[in-house]
Amino acid sequence: MRKLNRRNFLVNAGLSASGALLLGSWPAMASKYLTSDVSKYPLGKRVIDAHIHVHAETIDRAIRVMDQNYIVFGNSIGLTKNDFNAFAKAYLPFKDRLGAMYRYDWTPWQSSAKFIQSAPDELEAAVEKGALGVKIWKDLGLTVKDEKGQLVAIDDERLMPIWERAEKLNCIVAFHTVDPVAFFEPWNEHNERWEELELHPDWSFADQSKYPSRTSVLEQRNNVIKAFPNLKFQCVHMANYSENFDIIDNWMQEMPNMMLDTSARLGELGRQDPAVGKAFFEKYQDRIMFGTDRMFRPDGDVQGAGPKKYFTKEEDNRFYEAHWRYFQTESRGVDHPTPIQGNWDIDGIGLDEQVVKKIYWDNAYQYYNLKSQGV
Ligand SMILES: [Zn+2]
Repeated sequence: MRKLNRRNFLVNAGLSASGALLLGSWPAMASKYLTSDVSKYPLGKRVIDAHIHVHAETIDRAIRVMDQNYIVFGNSIGLTKNDFNAFAKAYLPFKDRLGAMYRYDWTPWQSSAKFIQSAPDELEAAVEKGALGVKIWKDLGLTVKDEKGQLVAIDDERLMPIWERAEKLNCIVAFHTVDPVAFFEPWNEHNERWEELELHPDWSFADQSKYPSRTSVLEQRNNVIKAFPNLKFQCVHMANYSENFDIIDNWMQEMPNMMLDTSARLGELGRQDPAVGKAFFEKYQDRIMFGTDRMFRPDGDVQGAGPKKYFTKEEDNRFYEAHWRYFQTESRGVDHPTPIQGNWDIDGIGLDEQVVKKIYWDNAYQYYNLKSQGV
């Protein structure tokens, strides 16, 4: 396939990439040309979405939308026991298109400590049924309580057997820890994510009398990642610090077993200096997986964030194209995929084709061992 980046555009136009005479008129040409062409499809034309939500009942709909948007494989990240078991049966004919991660429902812990003793076996049973890994959702660290009614920290000793078992099973641990910075700031109309918080008041963790600080919970997560250097961790939503490339950069240096997915965070990434974003994705090109957080729920769908509804083919194309545009073009001041996550424009980072292909395909293919699923 023809590679459509800045250099090739110049070459195709019969010009040298260093042609000084052209530079003055370059930016306008780049946006127009690239936006109208390359962002219509992902380079390589095959993508693994490392972060979607599909249920047994919605597999057909998910496959249809995936087919329309070059998504070859999707990881349904986090289904609790009954949903997971139903999915594990229903997805068998689609094993080369879909996989799932197991998610704990921690509520039984409140009635009995027995729950936590059998938790590692619960994970092993899920892995035997095909789980690609275990998803630890944001409730752990913020709201999960033990049998004494005490808040459980992510690095609590009682959870160690779960991480040890995951290591033994060679399965990935996906951490969705805390939430965006704005969700820990006061819940009112001055909050820059107000539209979203107003729709989901339960996403606010601003009340410090009820919730621990964002920083302390992230630290607990990082303690686990550091304690298990042989275990791979998919830190979803850009490790939940998409507001600041420098912070994630420090973490990635400190913890070589930390991997990222980009789901539902292009709004935050794309409002930062695109040169910084590009350098970050180039530096960690082997440890970042593409994700959208596209949800296919029995009662309606969600495009990364926003209200539940059923989307038209055009609305879905627009959603995915906003992703391709961010990664593949140097467009300036364009829409991000999840408008409810902030009322601002983003800038594309224009990654080279070989980098984009790792993020869209190679990394997840390798980390999830998708060869064994026939992908
Ligand atoms: Zn999600």
